[in-house]
Amino acid sequence: MDYRYLGRSGLKITEITYGNWLTHGSQVENDVATACVRAALDAGITTFDTADVYANGKAEEVLGAALASERRESLEIFTKVYWPVGPKGPNDTGLSRKHIMEGINGSLRRLNMDYVDLYQAHRFDHETPLEETIGAFADVVRAGKALYIGVSEWNAEQLHRGQLLAREAGFALVSNQPQYSALWRVIEPEVIPAAKELGISQVVWSPMAQGVLSGKYLPGAPLPAGSRATDEHGGANTIKAYLDDTILSNVQKLRPIADELGLTMPQLAIAWVLQNDNVATALVGASRPEQVAENVAASGVKIPVELMSAIDEALAPSIVN
Ligand code: NDP
Repeated sequence: MDYRYLGRSGLKITEITYGNWLTHGSQVENDVATACVRAALDAGITTFDTADVYANGKAEEVLGAALASERRESLEIFTKVYWPVGPKGPNDTGLSRKHIMEGINGSLRRLNMDYVDLYQAHRFDHETPLEETIGAFADVVRAGKALYIGVSEWNAEQLHRGQLLAREAGFALVSNQPQYSALWRVIEPEVIPAAKELGISQVVWSPMAQGVLSGKYLPGAPLPAGSRATDEHGGANTIKAYLDDTILSNVQKLRPIADELGLTMPQLAIAWVLQNDNVATALVGASRPEQVAENVAASGVKIPVELMSAIDEALAPSIVN
């Protein structure tokens, strides 16, 4: 497993991160969740991404328990703050000093850890002054509760303003966590150029378009048993925009390209996002350990330029950019 630097920092993270959205504390039982974490560790993944809001706090608890016997120094743990966990009072959302301070304490308690490596603003808060948010993050870092600060789904202008204030406060934003896959390329025109200039990496979510780029969803065919598309806890709802026959037909055109590279479709999808040097890691989910074992083989793969063009051509009508 290859490592990459996170932003302009000295922190090295695995270029494939195991993420537990929709799975831990929800779609899969705890023993399966633990087996997936074990498979990730066995395959060399040391970086894990979760959020306070995933399964209403349960995802952090399950991940923390699964990693409890590991050496803390050998792990890089990412979590996030923005949405409410439990009660939805007026101060339970957003990036106020109050919510950030209470948020980090809640996450550390659920993870059963003394600190997280990366604490991320899960979205931009248009109501709280950015100075207040950045000041609170600076204090979280000074208190040693998080070692680095990142954001998620911020646009280029928000990244610029945030980085300026962070530098004034004596630290730096190191990452942005956007959706990015061969099908979803919204960050390419503005966010990536701004981030490169600012020393911010992308840690990208849903690189497999929630499993769609694995090629297992076939146009006009029944949904595969046990897949996210059949998960009534929430997954079926989040994936449904991708389950369109045109998209699914175009995805099947990637199969010969994967074959030519000696890769499986899931490996091709993950390798595709890793071709971008502003991407520090692909956040990959899994509902069973065999998927993790398959997916990690995408680390270190180089896709030749002509095959990158062939992927663009195959997916062109379905790409969101
Ligand atoms: P992916 O696009 O990697 O989808 C993962 C899902 O695809 C798995 O749960 C599994 O679902 C299926 N899958 C994985 N491997 C295979 C395989 N080899 N063969 C077939 N199917 C496979 O990413 P996610 O959508 O899960 O997101 C990844 C992470 O990104 C999250 O865990 C979270 O950490 C982060 N995230 C962040 C967000 C943000 O707002 N910042 C938003 C969303 C996610 P199944 O088997 O059930 O079909």
